[in-house]
Amino acid sequence: MRAILAPEIAGSTIGPEAEAILRSCVHCGFCNAVCPTYQIRGDERDGPRGRIYLMKAMLEGEAVGETTQRHLDRCLTCRACESTCPSGVRYARLTELVKPKLERDVARPAGKRLFRWLLRRVMSDAGRAGALIGLGRAVRGLLPDRLARWVPASRDPGAWPEPRHARRLLCLTGCVQASAAPRINAAAARVLDRLGTSLVRVPGTVCCGALPYHLGHADEARTFARANIDAWWPAIEAGAAGVFSASSGCSAMLRDYADLLADDPHYCERAARVAELALDASSAVTAAELAAALPSQTPGCAGRIAFQPPCTLQHALRAPGRVEAALEVAGFELTQRAGLESCCGSAGTYSLLQPELANELRTRRLAHLATGAPEAIASANIGCMLHLERESNVPVRHWIELVDEAWPGRARPSE
Ligand code: SF4
Ligand code: SF4
Repeated sequence: MRAILAPEIAGSTIGPEAEAILRSCVHCGFCNAVCPTYQIRGDERDGPRGRIYLMKAMLEGEAVGETTQRHLDRCLTCRACESTCPSGVRYARLTELVKPKLERDVARPAGKRLFRWLLRRVMSDAGRAGALIGLGRAVRGLLPDRLARWVPASRDPGAWPEPRHARRLLCLTGCVQASAAPRINAAAARVLDRLGTSLVRVPGTVCCGALPYHLGHADEARTFARANIDAWWPAIEAGAAGVFSASSGCSAMLRDYADLLADDPHYCERAARVAELALDASSAVTAAELAAALPSQTPGCAGRIAFQPPCTLQHALRAPGRVEAALEVAGFELTQRAGLESCCGSAGTYSLLQPELANELRTRRLAHLATGAPEAIASANIGCMLHLERESNVPVRHWIELVDEAWPGRARPSE
């Protein structure tokens, strides 16, 4: 795709990279076939090829307005289009390059600006998110059912093992996950401890930055990334084996630190190192390691579950099948294998900002998962879990919690 960028864009820090991405697209349209929003709306501008044309026009200097904003806002950033693209177009990177300009150029109504500001302030701060969730839990009994569904269930995290192994992983504790479901990281620490690795919490760790980044506020994301790098660096220099995250969305964001801070001379090298060290739970706890540590399990002895693979696991981290293999080694029977490539509608804050499309995608996904009659749904990202849990008829859990609880001889923490 030929692109002649406006002089002020061509000469900016995003110009060369944006132009290279635009040129890599041969406008074949294969990507439209896998795009969830194109499948629902049937509008070229709600598919990846049409959105690339909209971004190209913007970068070439055409005036953009609410129409461009609306069609780009409807994108889930699920990256299914990237997995299908024969030309390797870095679609998501292009959107992240463009979003800050779009936020500057096209003003949103005051109410929407305020809502987005609150999302960034509350959901990317573990303390504020925890306070809001705590308040919701305190008054859940007074809330109408449709609001009570938004309050995540409270579960005892159980014990976090003291560090005792030479091999150590640094934990990105997370913001929403740490507040809504602290048992996930504790379960990961227990499983890793049994496998010979200590998962350690590092003071000063903050949100990975994904939330502001995907809302078009890359500068805020950079501030989070720098704080995390500063917090982890002494432990990395001391030999930490990786930076662990149990949420695939956060793991994908850690991988983006290299791009995010590429223009920062003080942080670019350390950001690239952290991106290399990023280790999602699906890579930190593998089927092979579980098979070596666990006695052979009768297939299905731990239960029948459906695994919902998050888009960030499939299309950003490119780790299809890893969690499924680990769950089978741990004794779970998987009830569903096919038809899970597209987004469940969660997509970070998307379910709050685009509820109609998000709910439609969730309804389709839950109906599909229900055909296998699972006892529970497992996933690998807190956003997907909370989104599905609101309407699911069966419990929705993180897969590492299930592996922890199915471990032979392990006493389950109380619900
Ligand atoms: S599949 Fe790739 S090359 Fe083809 S239109 Fe989509 S982004 Fe462009
Ligand atoms: S990221 Fe997902 S929603 Fe956005 S254009 Fe690509 S496939 Fe469609």
